[in-house]
Amino acid sequence: MLLADFHVHSTWSDGRLSIPELVDLFGRSRHDAIAITDHVVNSDSLLGKIAHGCRLSVTKDNFDAYRAEIEREARRAWDTYRMIVLAGCELTRNALTGRRSAHALALGLERFVSADGPVEEMLTRAHEAGAVTVACHPNEQSDWFANTFYLWDRRKEVAKLVDLWELACRWDLFPQVSRARLPYVGNSDFHDRPHLYAWKTLMSCEKTPNAVLAALRAGKGLGVTRLPDPFPAAARVPDETEPLRPCTIVPGFVEPVAA
Ligand SMILES: [Zn+2]
Ligand SMILES: [Zn+2]
Repeated sequence: MLLADFHVHSTWSDGRLSIPELVDLFGRSRHDAIAITDHVVNSDSLLGKIAHGCRLSVTKDNFDAYRAEIEREARRAWDTYRMIVLAGCELTRNALTGRRSAHALALGLERFVSADGPVEEMLTRAHEAGAVTVACHPNEQSDWFANTFYLWDRRKEVAKLVDLWELACRWDLFPQVSRARLPYVGNSDFHDRPHLYAWKTLMSCEKTPNAVLAALRAGKGLGVTRLPDPFPAAARVPDETEPLRPCTIVPGFVEPVAA
């Protein structure tokens, strides 16, 4: 059984950790597969332009450098931790209302895909680029600003364009996704260290990038789980200089050594 997290942000968009730091954190905590999925934000709206102005998006111009760093770190992750690192992005269209906003992961991405234009065309481009598509946090979230209902409201129309739906994302579960019997994954939407203990995917397949992508594309052998949280909500959240405490469910987790 593989422990996987296919929704992880780095400093290439709004994550707190660099890709090498992510590889060490997820590798040391014995994850088998992760995907780096930084935001590719649309640039054809005011909100999108603001995100680009704040450098919160991977762009067409820096995509090759982003992809090259993932490739480099994927080799190191495999050599050091026997962990798979997939390249991806989170195609991000934010509108003034959640009903019109859509976020979708594109996993196994080799080339840049724009988030401009209609959402359906964005997903079609991701499929044409060979990526597996995942509807992110598709229903009501505890963080209201992250509510993105566009895909959920059109789930029948977009069914062929969306390979998987997040049944679980960060600390939220979406029972509607289960009731609708949609193919699902669980992801942490990792932005910072405390999110290491959020929702994950369990999968039963060979531990190779191609087998992982094929299982995702087929929606076969997938489950969701959460790691025991050493920092429950009532507890203080650690600051970034504080090393993580060992996590009991992940055998052999080694506390990161301070540099
Ligand atoms: Zn998102
Ligand atoms: Zn995200």
